[in-house]
Amino acid sequence: MKIGVLSLQGAVAEHIRSVECAGAEGVAVKKIEQLDELSGLIIPGGESTTIGKLMHKYEFIDAIRQFSTQGKPIFGTCAGLIVLAKTIQGQEEAHLGLMDITVSRNAFGRQRESFETDLSIKGIEQPVRAVFIRAPLIMSVGTGVDVLSEYNGEIVAARQGHLLASSFHPELTDDYRLHQYFVDMVRE
Ligand code: GLN
Repeated sequence: MKIGVLSLQGAVAEHIRSVECAGAEGVAVKKIEQLDELSGLIIPGGESTTIGKLMHKYEFIDAIRQFSTQGKPIFGTCAGLIVLAKTIQGQEEAHLGLMDITVSRNAFGRQRESFETDLSIKGIEQPVRAVFIRAPLIMSVGTGVDVLSEYNGEIVAARQGHLLASSFHPELTDDYRLHQYFVDMVRE
């Protein structure tokens, strides 16, 4: 089973390592033709405006929307979550606009730009170590969206059917259980 990591910008190698720890094959995706051979796709963290622009340039917007229409799972982390969202606060346009969530970019402000914490995540038994870097928050979710994790009462992970999103970077620790969760979604 192959899981792609969109490789236009951002933390790619770390995601591939975590996918492999979770028992699937990880592939760096640079061209839309590669999507056909994949069972799931991860959109990594980085800078969402840059990732969005590169996605347009390399024709990934329609190609990933089709991938999603086929019911193939997609996991967006940090900037990847922003790219998946239907609504980005303060911005007119979304990128993929697939997931029924409203997000706020850089929602932790300057004082808490980066930090680590242990989070309880629905569906995973023990708390998961999470790294937040200029992270977005999910401000609201639509009816079909299941909130998986909150930090100080704010939503930091959610799932809508075959779509999974986290505000934090699960690939920057040795704890690959959220990748395992995604690999299990892909297996189903
Ligand atoms: N702040 C970035 C953005 O708005 C996301 C940061 C990250 O992916 N670590 O795109």
